[in-house]
Amino acid sequence: MTERMPLMAANWKMHKTIRECVAFVEALHRETGSPRDREVLIAPPFTALFAIRDAMRAAGFLLAGQNCHWEEKGAFTGEIAPSMLLDAGCTHVILGHSERRHLMGETDEMVGKKVRAAWERELVPIVCVGEKLDEREAGGTFEVVTRQLKAALDGVSAERARRTVLAYEPVWAIGTGKTATPEQAQEVHALVREQCASLYDKTVANGIRILYGGSVKPGNVDALMACADIDGTLVGGAGLEVDSFQRIVRYQA
Ligand code: PEP
Repeated sequence: MTERMPLMAANWKMHKTIRECVAFVEALHRETGSPRDREVLIAPPFTALFAIRDAMRAAGFLLAGQNCHWEEKGAFTGEIAPSMLLDAGCTHVILGHSERRHLMGETDEMVGKKVRAAWERELVPIVCVGEKLDEREAGGTFEVVTRQLKAALDGVSAERARRTVLAYEPVWAIGTGKTATPEQAQEVHALVREQCASLYDKTVANGIRILYGGSVKPGNVDALMACADIDGTLVGGAGLEVDSFQRIVRYQA
């Protein structure tokens, strides 16, 4: 079986000034050093990308955008192109986050276009999928996640699919303090991996990293990371403080 390098990611959403972002990266690096057995990634607000680029590189941390458009340039006020994220030092971009899907009206089709556009520039997409509470309660979790996954990977080659990062983020667990139990998360992660095998093959399924996101905290990260198909975490709230995020980065499974 392929070894999958764990990836511990923080999404800062619409939080922090440039100065706060720089101070955080320096403090996190002091706490964690540059781990060799796991990757650390931060998605700051766009305004801070370039400002933290050098400190992130020096620490060996990965830099990500929180979103991008599918077009490379044009009259799209307020949007950002994949090449602009690359220019600012990003290697990754978060796409299809539930806040984009449910607050900003992003459809499965739009997410698919963004994933293809990111890959055109060799920007690695971190694709979020996840069901809402009513969908889970109606027994629709697998159907929703499978639909989102298929649309996101539509037209993506096997080689790129294997290097794509997926994040299972049940919407009912994001920012609510309600974490999926390790069993609930593992069940969906295993399904997502099976879907990757049927959409592509076993090489893709065994190589693709699937992060869990939804109220990950220092107190639950070890149990989540002990699950066979959880390859990392995507963290919102607990990624905003050095104290909590450094503990998440230093999980012990
Ligand atoms: C997120 O927004 O991706 C997230 C998982 O947030 P939180 O950790 O705050 O639930």
